[in-house]
Amino acid sequence: MTEAEAVGKQLESTDQAPDGYWRDQLQSALDSSIDELAAIESDLTATRALRGNGGDDDEHDPDGIPLSSALQLLEGQKVRTLNQIRLAASALEDLAQGRHGICKKCLQRIPSQRLEIKPTTGTCVKCAR
Ligand SMILES: [Zn+2]
Repeated sequence: MTEAEAVGKQLESTDQAPDGYWRDQLQSALDSSIDELAAIESDLTATRALRGNGGDDDEHDPDGIPLSSALQLLEGQKVRTLNQIRLAASALEDLAQGRHGICKKCLQRIPSQRLEIKPTTGTCVKCAR
């Protein structure tokens, strides 16, 4: 490869990140969401066990948040994390089909700055609003 070709290739890759780059980003987003889900699940199990042991005295515990609120928080986190897992999985699917980085609503290319921040996004900033 000549030097000019090498430079040209570099320019190309900064303009449009190769699929392998996004595959890594999405895979690590997916992996960390799965880890997060496992942590939330074990917190949920522990909190439910506490509650099952008659530890549910929402009215009488002035310290910390009541178990029912803790459970609600965890359930909320679980829903969000499951959603992240779905997003990452579908973004990986899109990548395999060559559709990653294309807005699902207006079919325009999503700016790479947005993808850098949120690799799993399926919409451009305008359509996400
Ligand atoms: Zn759009």
